[in-house]
Amino acid sequence: MCRHFAYLGRSVALRSVLLDPPFGPLRQSWAPRLQRHGTVNVDGYGVGWYAEGDERPARYRREGPIWADGDLADLARVVRSHAVLGAVRSATPGCAPGPQAAAPFAAGRWLFSHNGILPGWPGAFEPLAELVPTSELLELEARTDSALLWAVVLNRLRAGVELGKALAEVCLAASELADSRINLLATDGRCVVATAWGDTLFHRRDADGSLLVASEPFDDGPGWSEVPDRTLLVADAAGSALTPLAPIGPRTREDAPL
Ligand code: GLN
Repeated sequence: MCRHFAYLGRSVALRSVLLDPPFGPLRQSWAPRLQRHGTVNVDGYGVGWYAEGDERPARYRREGPIWADGDLADLARVVRSHAVLGAVRSATPGCAPGPQAAAPFAAGRWLFSHNGILPGWPGAFEPLAELVPTSELLELEARTDSALLWAVVLNRLRAGVELGKALAEVCLAASELADSRINLLATDGRCVVATAWGDTLFHRRDADGSLLVASEPFDDGPGWSEVPDRTLLVADAAGSALTPLAPIGPRTREDAPL
C-alpha cells in the first residue's frame, strides 16, 4: 500500500510537508510506521500543487524511490503552495511501472490518489470499467487499478457530481466487486476529500486553520485524529466532516450506488 497526503492552508514550501516532517512522506517511503500491507514505498512518487491565481495544479512525478531524487530538495524548497497532494508508491504486482502510474493523477482542477488494491483487477472490475466510455478508458495514464478508479471518479466529476459524492460512490461501487482496499484522496485546491477503506487515515487541523490529511501522522505531536475505517472525510477551510461509508443493513444490486 502506498502512503498519500494532502495539505490545505496558508502557503508553505513543499518541503515542509513533503520532506521535512520527521515521519512524513520522505521517511514513509523507507520506514512507514503504520502501513498494513507492504514494507517500503519505492516504486515512484509524486506531488501536485496549486499556484496562486491558477486553478489548474502542477505535478511532478518520478519512478523509483523519492530519496534518490537529487533535484527534488531544491524544487521543494522554492515552490510554495496553499494546496498540495502527494504520494509515495508501492506498486501492486501486475500494475504498470513508471512515472505515469504514480499519483497524483490529474485532470482540470483535480488531483487524485489511491492507496490500496483491487484484487482480481482487471477482470473482476469490468463492471466498473463499463461505467466509463471507451474513449475515456483509452485516456488511462497507466495500466493500473488506481488509474481505472481515477477514470471512473473523473467521469462522475465531469457529469457534475461533487467531489465527496464522486469518491463515495466509486469507493462503494468498487467494494461491491471484491474485497478491495480503496483509500482514495482528492482535492480541487479548495477542499480535500478522502475515503478510509482498508488502511489507516489521519487528519490534523492546526491553530491557523491549516489542514493535513495523511495515511499516517507526520510526527508524534498532538492534533492527529484517526479516521475510522469505511468513512468519508470532507474538509475545507471552514471545517471537516466524517460520514460513514458502510451501508447499513443488507444491500441489493438495485441499491448499487452507480
Ligand atoms: N494498486 C496501486 C498501484 O499499484 C496502489 C498501490 C498501493 O497502494 N500500494 O499503484
